[in-house]
Amino acid sequence: MPALGQGFQIPRARRTLGATTYNVFAGVHPLPRAAETQIAPETAGVSRLRDPIRRVSVLLVPACCRRATLGPGWGTLGACFRRLADELRGIDAAFGRYFLSETPVSMMQTPSIAGHGVPGRPSLAGGRQVRRAIQDARAGLPVIIRGAASLVVLPAETANEAGLAAFAGAATGPGMILLSPLRAASVLQQPVAVSQQPGAVAALRLPAQGLTPACLLGLADPTAPQDGAALAETTPPPLAAAAILLAKMAKLLPAMLVAAASGDAPASLLAVAGDDVLAYPAIADASLVRVAEAVVPVAEAADARLVAFRPADGGLEHYALLIGRPEEAAAPLVRIHSECFTGDVLGSLRCDCGPQLHQAMRRMTAEGAGVLLYMAQEGRGIGLVNKLRAYALQDRGLDTLDANRALGWAADERSFAPAATMLSALGVTRIRLLTNNPDKMAQLAAHGIEVTARVSHAIAANGVNDAYLETKARRFGHMLE
Ligand SMILES: [Zn+2]
Repeated sequence: MPALGQGFQIPRARRTLGATTYNVFAGVHPLPRAAETQIAPETAGVSRLRDPIRRVSVLLVPACCRRATLGPGWGTLGACFRRLADELRGIDAAFGRYFLSETPVSMMQTPSIAGHGVPGRPSLAGGRQVRRAIQDARAGLPVIIRGAASLVVLPAETANEAGLAAFAGAATGPGMILLSPLRAASVLQQPVAVSQQPGAVAALRLPAQGLTPACLLGLADPTAPQDGAALAETTPPPLAAAAILLAKMAKLLPAMLVAAASGDAPASLLAVAGDDVLAYPAIADASLVRVAEAVVPVAEAADARLVAFRPADGGLEHYALLIGRPEEAAAPLVRIHSECFTGDVLGSLRCDCGPQLHQAMRRMTAEGAGVLLYMAQEGRGIGLVNKLRAYALQDRGLDTLDANRALGWAADERSFAPAATMLSALGVTRIRLLTNNPDKMAQLAAHGIEVTARVSHAIAANGVNDAYLETKARRFGHMLE
């Protein structure tokens, strides 16, 4: 039976709801993606899986529950969650309505992010610091990640001379660079000891002298000039996953210069709790609120409305184009489209996004109703800058999946939790999904959206994107019939 992973050891808040006091935990758990694994005894209580892909959960455990053992009927995590839900309804009906509603947004419109308290709602403090840490990372400023063994971290991509000096001033131990195992093996030009499992992080010890921004960039970016520094593999620190996640959330290459930091690190550097970093994506994903809408007729759909959703943390907005009255249909056609500046706007022939976008709108118009979600998840969640780097690697012979991995990213970094939140907010929870991607269906189902059917959405190859489409079918399991 696996133990709980990072983030769960310490309750992040205590909330009294109805007659019961709960400890609020959030973090990354080590359960496999299918989540069909027994849950550790410490989690007995009330819980809800937030994001099965990033494996982040928020759990509410009654404070009276210390080490209750799960009975034989608890079985799998999924069954466990259902039992926990039943138990919760028994404990406090009012809280059950709030927390267990199929609209996950209710949990996460939390006071700490919005900046003003709502009595009785769980507060996941620290989101504000994480948002600031993301900005500092993008600006090339070191950040302190606090935990049992605190780290000073600096993204290799944005490190400049001033940032390196500030980093050295806060470091109390030797520097190392954290990379994905695949990128580390490429830098070392030999296999690394750390596993190649998703989420694994490799650490390379850096020389004490001679570190330059250009050298660090070369370590991070296979498309930049390579310096050839002498490096050796070492053990990653406990907060390695939080450091890499911070880089990814900043849409920077997942390569972090890190060193041990003392408890009295310079006050000029922003400090953030490692647990807050790990819990952040799930909080941001579920915090979307509907902020504006207007009638926007488009060429393919005269009867269309555009609804904007904004995450409470100030992150990127997502949009829903409603064609006809999908909320009145039994199971309307839904398309989840990740924004693609090159394909949607420029008409790039490297992918099939533009034709998919327009074909989706035409099909919804033909049916009389549908929802097109336009998600700010460029490049399967790696951002436009990294997508361009991946294109450069593809021009050297890698396919789209291997190019992402060579840069340190997973094949698909998206979470479909925000899409599920938007559909729930629109009152569309029973859908037919226009997709070739079976993973989208599984993720939506995991977030409470009932997918009654998959509707194929294949686009013919154009002579440029043939290999790209072939890779999606062969290596991503897309169904291009
Ligand atoms: Zn595209």
